[in-house]
Amino acid sequence: MAVKQEQRPPEQQLLPGENRLRLILDTALDAVISIDKNGLITEWNKQAEAIFGWPAEEVIGKLMSDILIPPAYRAQHWQSFRKFLEDGSSKILNKRVGVEALTRSGTIIPVEVTVTVQRNENCYFTSFIRDMRCEKKAREKILKYSKELERSNQELDDFCYIVSHDLKEALRGIQHFSQFLLEDCADRLDEDGKKKLRTISDLTQRLGELLDVLLQYSRLGRTELAIGETNLNDVVQNVVQLFCIKIQETEAEVKICQQLPTIVCDRIRIAEVFRNLIGNALKYTDKKGNKIDIGCINNHTRALGENVFFVRDQGIGIAPEHLEAIFKIFKRLHPKGAYGGGTGSGLAITKKIISQHGGQTWAESKGKDQGTTFFFTLPQQKSVLITTQ
Ligand code: ADP
Repeated sequence: MAVKQEQRPPEQQLLPGENRLRLILDTALDAVISIDKNGLITEWNKQAEAIFGWPAEEVIGKLMSDILIPPAYRAQHWQSFRKFLEDGSSKILNKRVGVEALTRSGTIIPVEVTVTVQRNENCYFTSFIRDMRCEKKAREKILKYSKELERSNQELDDFCYIVSHDLKEALRGIQHFSQFLLEDCADRLDEDGKKKLRTISDLTQRLGELLDVLLQYSRLGRTELAIGETNLNDVVQNVVQLFCIKIQETEAEVKICQQLPTIVCDRIRIAEVFRNLIGNALKYTDKKGNKIDIGCINNHTRALGENVFFVRDQGIGIAPEHLEAIFKIFKRLHPKGAYGGGTGSGLAITKKIISQHGGQTWAESKGKDQGTTFFFTLPQQKSVLITTQ
């Protein structure tokens, strides 16, 4: 049963229509400003007072454009205003737009405005205005940090590149001299001495491989993406073709589960991603006849609605506690020569390439012998940047 007005406690009694509207307007978190057909202010709520510094009594009846619109935009404002009165067309009505507004102190501040039309004598247009100063500051801060981060990553890549390049030079010298010693002085060395020299030679070779990886990894960060339309079916088919001998040897079944999309990306680098993932799927298995599925879904809970590519195998699996660590450079979960050896760099390079495309990479596995699925996302690139590598 409806409760009568006089039965309600005083704080719940309904206010007469006008007062109720006043209360709503004055407790709103946005400025609410109405103007009449001539552009004169007819409504100016409390938040408008707080944002722009003018009390209502000083601005009611004045031209809104003189109070709020920075001088540089006034002519344009009047042009649009007249155009709307003439033919009803407008570019800003009923949408949220970011503009600049003037405060009483003369400061120009960023605001977000929605303008609606009422066509009432006293209230022809109403603007709902949000002060965006904090958001703008936060955005600028994020932009500054991300620029700094980009710069320091670039420096790190440059440093890594120069150091590995110079170390390789020195290493080549050590390799050559240990080889000369083995060839020229073998008769003066006993077995133990020869063994030690061979170990030096093996270790320098390994160090050389690791420095190559560092060079490759840092080179990725030093060159821009060469972006273009890429048919991923072609890319994956070419990569699978590269592994045809390995596929025959291991009797693996490689299946592309569905038509892959054509997207804008760096073809060569994305081919490298598939090469690393399909290569690993073929490599990390103890049995023949491994089934490897490659595909694209858009309903993965981790990236709903995005293109999520996957490479799934039925191999040795990965314990859950290692699923993050395997993406670190040089991280391997097996002894040196196991599963055909490796440098522990393929996944780190994969992750770097995908993150350069603005995507994410992750792996899922239920553990030992349960197979592994590698996933990555590839957002569509906004700008097309063709650069030389
Ligand atoms: P690499 O293969 O040269 O060791 P990666 O960076 O490609 O380097 O892989 C890192 C480690 O992650 C591998 O050493 C292996 O232990 C593990 N790994 C990668 N792919 C798979 C896979 N499909 N199944 C099981 N383990 C994998």
